[in-house]
Amino acid sequence: MSAPVSDDSVAATAATAGRPQRSVHWLVRMNWRNRTSFYAMLGLAVASHLGFTGTGPWAFALVAVQFLGFPHIAYWRALRSPRQRHTEMQNLWLDVVFGGLWAGGLGLPLWLTFSLMIGNCINMVVFYDLRGLPRLLLAGGGGVAASAAGWLAATGRWPLNLETHNVTALLCIAALTVYFVAFAHDGYMRAMAQHRTNEKLRQQFDEIQSLQTRLRDQALRDPLTGLFNRRQLDAVLAAELQRSQAQHQPLSLLMIDIDHFKRINDTHGHAAGDAVLQSLAQLLQRHVRPQDLACRHGGEEFVLLLAETPLATASERAEALRRAFESVLVEFEGEVLSATLSCGVAAFPQHADQPHTLTACADQALYAAKLQGRNRVKVFGPEQRAAAAAEPA
Ligand code: GH3
Ligand code: MG
Ligand code: MG
Repeated sequence: MSAPVSDDSVAATAATAGRPQRSVHWLVRMNWRNRTSFYAMLGLAVASHLGFTGTGPWAFALVAVQFLGFPHIAYWRALRSPRQRHTEMQNLWLDVVFGGLWAGGLGLPLWLTFSLMIGNCINMVVFYDLRGLPRLLLAGGGGVAASAAGWLAATGRWPLNLETHNVTALLCIAALTVYFVAFAHDGYMRAMAQHRTNEKLRQQFDEIQSLQTRLRDQALRDPLTGLFNRRQLDAVLAAELQRSQAQHQPLSLLMIDIDHFKRINDTHGHAAGDAVLQSLAQLLQRHVRPQDLACRHGGEEFVLLLAETPLATASERAEALRRAFESVLVEFEGEVLSATLSCGVAAFPQHADQPHTLTACADQALYAAKLQGRNRVKVFGPEQRAAAAAEPA
């Protein structure tokens, strides 16, 4: 008859050979399957009861219409409705009313009354929550009252007889068993389907999240070298300076530029130049600690931000880098290339306490290194102060 969940969005498809396919709501399909089997067995129980109580053949005809015909009529109603789930809910109400009519009409035989009402009771609670119980009492009780009134009007008495034959009782038990097994199975299958859907959604969610992380990371990195880009430097430098000021920690910045890089491009080609850029990037990546930041500032210019590093240490590290790069040999298409770098060093708190002034100081120091012959490290000094102050923000 029904399952413990409802969902308007899920529709199954009735595939009928040769005919156009028609979408069937899963609730309609499931209730049709369960109703036909449960009603057929319940019809047998009612027929046996009628047999034992000696009723006329018209009653058996009614049994056939109700218990063999109604499940298909209900299905057909729902199927042709534009709001299948809504119509199916109406069918559940009809189940309750018919259950009451039959129970009352038969004089409330206990096993049959119980069997007729318990399935409806579960359906009403599943689909309407506990509010289903008063609805059940209303519709079921109305059915019983209507039958009783019919009897009273026709014969002047309501033939109450609570007893059922053992055979009828057994048939009721069989019908209920079929109903409960089908009900439990449907519930299990839907729970499993739900579980699989949840799993799939969780997987998709994880994929989207890792994709988002990758995209965010890509937006902050330079594609050629894999180092962070200038946008990330701007964000980190401001934050690091603030943190260094708050915690009274030093912060150093190295501005690095490859010497005569244009010559490499001109002599060996742009791709060779790229290989040299990548080799310096790898060197920087090996050199930085987790709290540092290595980034490509643009062209053949790189920046190292050294957290919690005083000027003297930064200068030593710059010198170590310069020497290391000097000895790097880059093999490119059978040729061995080498280059040198110049580096300007500036630090907080000695030289600047603002991002753009710290960068400008390192840039001025780098400029001085170039002027003094390249392949050297230059710490920002008083002689460059005037030039740095003149740099635009
Ligand atoms: P200096 O010693 O004064 O720094 O001289 P330089 O030749 O290194 O500097 P310059 O600014 O004259 O030339 C830098 C060159 O870097 C020019 C530009 O074409 C090249 N360049 C910029 N970006 C890239 C890149 O992504 N790949 C390659 N191969 N070359 C690049
Ligand atoms: Mg250069
Ligand atoms: Mg340059």
